[in-house]
Amino acid sequence: MPEAFLPFALPEIGEDEIAEVVDTLKSGWVTTGPKSRRFEGDFAVFLGDATRGEQLHCIAVNSATAGLHLALEALGIAPGDEVITTTHTFTATAEVVRYLGADVKLVDIDPSTMNIDVAAVEAAITPRTKAIMPVHYAGLAADMPALLAIARKHGLKVVEDAAHALPTTCGGQLVGTLDSDATVFSFYANKTITTGEGGMLVTRDAALARRARVMRLHGMNRDAFDRFTATVPSWYYEVVAPGFKYNLTDIAAALGIHQLKRANGFQLKREALAAAYDDAFAGLPVILPPRAAAGDRHAWHLYVLRLADGAHIERDRFIEHLFGAGIGCSVHYIPLHLHPYWRDRYGLTPAMFPHSQQAYERMVSLPLYTRMTVDDVARVAAAVSAALR
Ligand SMILES: *Cc1c(COP(=O)(O)O)cnc(C)c1O
Repeated sequence: MPEAFLPFALPEIGEDEIAEVVDTLKSGWVTTGPKSRRFEGDFAVFLGDATRGEQLHCIAVNSATAGLHLALEALGIAPGDEVITTTHTFTATAEVVRYLGADVKLVDIDPSTMNIDVAAVEAAITPRTKAIMPVHYAGLAADMPALLAIARKHGLKVVEDAAHALPTTCGGQLVGTLDSDATVFSFYANKTITTGEGGMLVTRDAALARRARVMRLHGMNRDAFDRFTATVPSWYYEVVAPGFKYNLTDIAAALGIHQLKRANGFQLKREALAAAYDDAFAGLPVILPPRAAAGDRHAWHLYVLRLADGAHIERDRFIEHLFGAGIGCSVHYIPLHLHPYWRDRYGLTPAMFPHSQQAYERMVSLPLYTRMTVDDVARVAAAVSAALR
């Protein structure tokens, strides 16, 4: 009998999450309110509010894309400016730069980590450059000490796309508490914790936080929760900018409150599954995913295998074989330089990004999620071995 299809990703939603959502629905407050506030507070505590004695501002939003947009807007990124990021990412990282009319400078990756190449970043800086946006690819921290040093040297802002990076550490510190201007997490369905759709903008910069809170909700200087829960009549607010509609609902935050409590446990499970894959693939003609530095934590959002020179099968055929064996997989990412919009706007060619291009042609993301069992890993490993035979 054929085995059931093993999906590429599945969320793990427990009874606590479900009960909190039901409580929210019954409470009468379904949009941004007490649960969103609680989720923001819990998130600050999770990251370590006491880091260096400065307050971490956590701003819940309805996607990481929204959070990245708000961060760049608050930093004043505008037409004429350039922002440097990796070509090896999801289009959301770069599109927010274009929302603001600024330009994107895409650079190649370091093939050993798949993260943005630090030397390429420095080489791409021009007088128009205003910011760097590293992505912690797959959940492995980018080289933040080097990137922050470059940013300081050239007077640039740093906004981390941490969509994959909860909980990731860099030099022993959680991503979200480093010295960048802002860090943005995603709670999309397949990320390491989920609210269905959602994100969190984290910053130590009080002015950035203030601006992002206002722009998150139509540019209003007081949100609905403030106005309707105040003890004195408080229908009054002022619109101070043409803002956006980026607030997180309390229904989503209800999920986030309980997902966050499980984030460290989820990470351990993902790490164990990744180690089981590594063991199963030893000796096969594949390049295993890079590991975190000693003492650091990899969030293991993705397990990305690359076919090595000795593999006598093309990536597309390899994926067909896995699907034939009832196993879902994916590719992260089709690099931005290959997408018509980015390619044509900036005249990009694969030769400009040899490492990303080569990785793309050989890569496949295997199923990796907390609801997988050791039997599931064995099944994937058997299909990978069979495809490479
Ligand atoms: C998922 C993802 C995003 C966007 O997250 P949303 O919450 O869906 O907006 C941005 N960047 C990267 C690298 C991602 O993987």
